[in-house]
Amino acid sequence: MGKNSMRLTGVRKNYGGLEVIHGIDLEVQEGAFVVFVGPSGCGKSTLLRMIAGLEEVTDGEIAIKGRDVTDLDPSERGIAMVFQSYALYPHMSVRENLGFGLKMARTDTGEIEARVKAASAILKIDHLLDRRPGQLSGGQRQRVAIGRAIVRKPDVFLFDEPLSNLDAELRVSMRIEIARLHRELGNTMIYVTHDQTEAMTLADKIVVLRDGKIEQAGSPREVYEDPANIFVAGFIGSPR
Ligand code: ADP
Ligand code: MG
Repeated sequence: MGKNSMRLTGVRKNYGGLEVIHGIDLEVQEGAFVVFVGPSGCGKSTLLRMIAGLEEVTDGEIAIKGRDVTDLDPSERGIAMVFQSYALYPHMSVRENLGFGLKMARTDTGEIEARVKAASAILKIDHLLDRRPGQLSGGQRQRVAIGRAIVRKPDVFLFDEPLSNLDAELRVSMRIEIARLHRELGNTMIYVTHDQTEAMTLADKIVVLRDGKIEQAGSPREVYEDPANIFVAGFIGSPR
């Protein structure tokens, strides 16, 4: 049995008096690849943003590595988030983009250099370090965005639909890259997608959400072969 990496207990979210996340309980093992999947509007991003500390929790508790982080700033949680839009700084080189967060955190220059070098080797972007984002392809930009998370050495990586802006072919190759990254780094990864194929191929554990509730959580195989209800069967089984 692996160690516990993250635990959500009774997590709820209200927006203007309307509850959109209805009491989520979830346990994530150290090093697991967990995928939140569900239709648009079911609360995937809200849940991830609460884990990241970008959105306040209305009720409940979030613990990472046994530490209650519910009221901590994003920078204090040991997490790093990769967004759907890459949000790279256009006027900075790839090297500067990768190192920027560390520089802001006053990491020393030698350490920044070493981490940027290691991350760019893992992502195979070492030859692009002097370019600007405008001189990169979509896939390369997404790699840089992931690199910015890697250099921070987080306990937990959070991905919100990181591949949804890429074309179909690139999406497949980046999906394989992310799986490789997970094998190499061994970190806990929480990955949000509305794409069943991505969920089935990446996950150790799939969490199927609907209307702010967990319909089922289990291995891809369990969810596919033994769906908890018609919604799960329809959602996971439906071809795209
Ligand atoms: P998903 O990522 O699964 O598409 P979201 O987490 O973005 O879903 O949204 C979940 C629900 O919360 C939706 O009904 C959405 O309209 C609502 N919502 C999300 N963000 C806000 C906000 N800032 N203010 C009010 N309602 C919001
Ligand atoms: Mg979303």
